[in-house]
Amino acid sequence: MNIHEYQAKALLASYGAPVSDGRAVLKAEDAKTAAGEMDGPLWVVKAQIHAGGRGKGKFKEADAGDAGGVRLTKSAVEAAEEAKKMLGRTLVTHQTGPAGKQVNRIYIEDGSGIETEMYLALLVDRQTSRIGFVVSTEGGMDIEEVAEKTPEKILNFTVDPATGYQAYHGRRVAFALGLEGQQVKQCVKLMGQLYKAFTEKDMEMLEINPLIITDEGSLKVLDAKVAFDGNAVYRHADIAALRDETEEDPKELAASKFDLNYIALDGEIGCMVNGAGLAMATMDIIKLYGAEPANFLDVGGGATKEKVTEAFKIITSDPQVKGILVNIFGGIMRCDVIAEGVVAAVKDVGLQVPLVVRLEGTNVEEGKAIINNSDVDVIAADDLKDGAEKIVKAVKG
Ligand code: GDP
Ligand code: MN
Repeated sequence: MNIHEYQAKALLASYGAPVSDGRAVLKAEDAKTAAGEMDGPLWVVKAQIHAGGRGKGKFKEADAGDAGGVRLTKSAVEAAEEAKKMLGRTLVTHQTGPAGKQVNRIYIEDGSGIETEMYLALLVDRQTSRIGFVVSTEGGMDIEEVAEKTPEKILNFTVDPATGYQAYHGRRVAFALGLEGQQVKQCVKLMGQLYKAFTEKDMEMLEINPLIITDEGSLKVLDAKVAFDGNAVYRHADIAALRDETEEDPKELAASKFDLNYIALDGEIGCMVNGAGLAMATMDIIKLYGAEPANFLDVGGGATKEKVTEAFKIITSDPQVKGILVNIFGGIMRCDVIAEGVVAAVKDVGLQVPLVVRLEGTNVEEGKAIINNSDVDVIAADDLKDGAEKIVKAVKG
């Protein structure tokens, strides 16, 4: 689960990390008041979307101006004007994809004088099952580019969970960043605060790009991107409350409400499968026969008729879907329940695209009978290969 920059900064600040004073606003009218509460001489106006690269981004609408999603202004009035230009407009960055993301929130921040921009990230290192630090002097730019062109400028190390964070880890970061004197102390403290926040809140990734040295010589978190482990959010009511559903794919959001494992993809064949492994195999075989899956969907082992209906609604709400392949292996799940769900869903949703159903396993004959005796338009398939061939043929002719 992702959160906005301003939320991440407030969370890190609660652990003692140094961040600038700032206000998040939803409406242009509030921007002036918010900006007026800061002293200047610099006001930074930042689009809040769940994507990075905002500074170098471009707005789709001409009236948003030529500047990107991070704007430096010299007065509270000017800050409010820039906020107004960005609100409701669509920002395209290298992380949003060409469709971009609508800006519904603006963060107005007391601007910092910057001496140096650096890069810092904490993440879960799956190879060592530890929390890792990624540190670089090359801040403010794409870390992927630094990794490709000048990998020697990136320091990686992991923290042994048996000892947890120790001061020497912080000194290692400070040394890699070329910090001196008081900054080393600050760095040791800050790294400890970040590590604590990371572990206590079950983060998956915490990226600070840039971490800066201000013109007054102290460290500050200037940008913050946080992703939490979705499987652990139930343990943190405070984090769950930060979820901004407007930033999520509506189909994935609906699926999560019905406990369906759904991931939206770019293809034209919607698929509904039980079991993650079978869902992957189904996607593979669709590709093998020359088409692309529109989604990954595992309805789970104990899907009810209601769940199947919801799954169908989600699949058909995607305008890119030109055909649907249902592939169910009835184990715990009974084929007749699925068949009932499919028939009910088709009637409910009013299916406009071809539908191929392959059922196998427990109560398969009852299931097939339900489909055959219904008046819905279904193409029956005998096995996975047959199902994939039939749906691709139905869609591509
Ligand atoms: P991103 O483009 O989405 O990563 O947004 P950032 O928050 O990282 O901002 C992009 C860039 O804007 C930073 O790398 C800085 O160069 C600049 N910037 C952001 N905040 C400030 C600020 O308070 N003062 C100054 N001088 N520059 C800033
Ligand atoms: Mn950044």
